Amino acid sequence: MMDLDFDRRHLWHPYTSMSDPLPVYPVAGAEGVTIELEDGRRLVDGMSSWWAAIHGYNHPVLNRAVEEQLGRMSHVMFGGLVHEPAIELGKLLVRLLPEPLDRVFFCDSGSVAVEVAVKMALQYWQAAGKPAKHRLLTVRSGYHGDTFMAMSVCDPVTGMHGLFRGVLARQLFAEAPACGFDGPWREAAIDEMRGLLERHGHEVAAVLIEPVVQGAGGMRFYSPHYLRRLRELCTEHGVLLIFDEIATGFGRTGRMFAMEHAGVVPDIACVGKALTGGYMTLAATVATGHLAETISSGDPGLFMHGPTFMANPLACAVAVASIGLLQSRDWKAEVSGIEHRLREGLAPCAGMPGVRDVRVLGAIGVVELERPVEMGRIQKRFVDRGAWVRPFGRLVYLMPPFVIGEEELAILTVAVCEVVAEELQD
Ligand SMILES: *Cc1c(COP(=O)(O)O)cnc(C)c1O
Repeated sequence: MMDLDFDRRHLWHPYTSMSDPLPVYPVAGAEGVTIELEDGRRLVDGMSSWWAAIHGYNHPVLNRAVEEQLGRMSHVMFGGLVHEPAIELGKLLVRLLPEPLDRVFFCDSGSVAVEVAVKMALQYWQAAGKPAKHRLLTVRSGYHGDTFMAMSVCDPVTGMHGLFRGVLARQLFAEAPACGFDGPWREAAIDEMRGLLERHGHEVAAVLIEPVVQGAGGMRFYSPHYLRRLRELCTEHGVLLIFDEIATGFGRTGRMFAMEHAGVVPDIACVGKALTGGYMTLAATVATGHLAETISSGDPGLFMHGPTFMANPLACAVAVASIGLLQSRDWKAEVSGIEHRLREGLAPCAGMPGVRDVRVLGAIGVVELERPVEMGRIQKRFVDRGAWVRPFGRLVYLMPPFVIGEEELAILTVAVCEVVAEELQD
């Protein structure tokens, strides 16, 4: 048996106390959409390990890609060297992303991809002779990662602004887009954003936003028309537009990238999470040629970033295989099938007193409660029903692997309805 006592005493878990941690469940293995616990219990995965494992676990094609690359080399530095997996992955990203996004910077994680995007925007304005443009403008309810620049654009209330007051860069926030995904467009929804661009455009380097779906900052969906208007306003006010597609990329919302719902192209896009099919950490920041050329024409004529494990060959190789796997299947049909079943399966929650909203988009299903859940208790209730679901705050949500079958998905939706009903009674 695993030494859980050591874990408790020495290993930090995400957003967890070291003196009074909630229980963790020891995992022996994972296969397909099933996570197997050490005691033999099997859980249907409703989380895709935080948006990442879109093909499920222990996939033979992805395993083979890692093994084959391991036989050649696991890593070499990217300074002065290049390798086939990086070139192949670069080609795939350039082909998948809309023009003119075609200059790819490989990063270690999503948060670093956001840092890199912001640094690109800042170096761009320095090179363009407008160093006063150094602030960021974003919307509330966002989540962009846990590093310092990324934290500065997370939601000021649910994020960590209070904790790091005086340290975090002070950015500009407009209200979160208040128009629903399918709802009618109201120009008023972007009034505050427009006002901020009018007043602060001269000092704003970029608007940074998660397109269509706001993830960990509130699991909110909003109208693609917001992005069309935002693109126009950014162009009008000479402000760069950065899309954080780290959670939404690679099919999760029903399009390859969420920006495709709007038909709008940013100046910089960040991808991560599902990029490697959940096998290992890798992200990319992709900019336009104009941006890259401008940065390179300035002083010092270089983009000033270069992580040790940049373009790690194992990670690039598995990302190439993961994208190939996605393209080899009818993933759009898979995701719309999941969307349909999530709508049906979560519908019973909508009538429960204490439930504020039930919403579904692509392979994302959300039940928003009136009050926050008690994590330890609700987690156990899901595990007891054979489901791996990890709510946060007032949000109980599902984002299963795309390969999930009808019966397994039903286990998840039934568990959500039952557990939510029980939680609301306590
Ligand atoms: C998860 C996430 C990040 C941060 O990615 P990490 O790999 O955890 O650093 C950034 N932006 C969005 C939208 C995310 O969902």
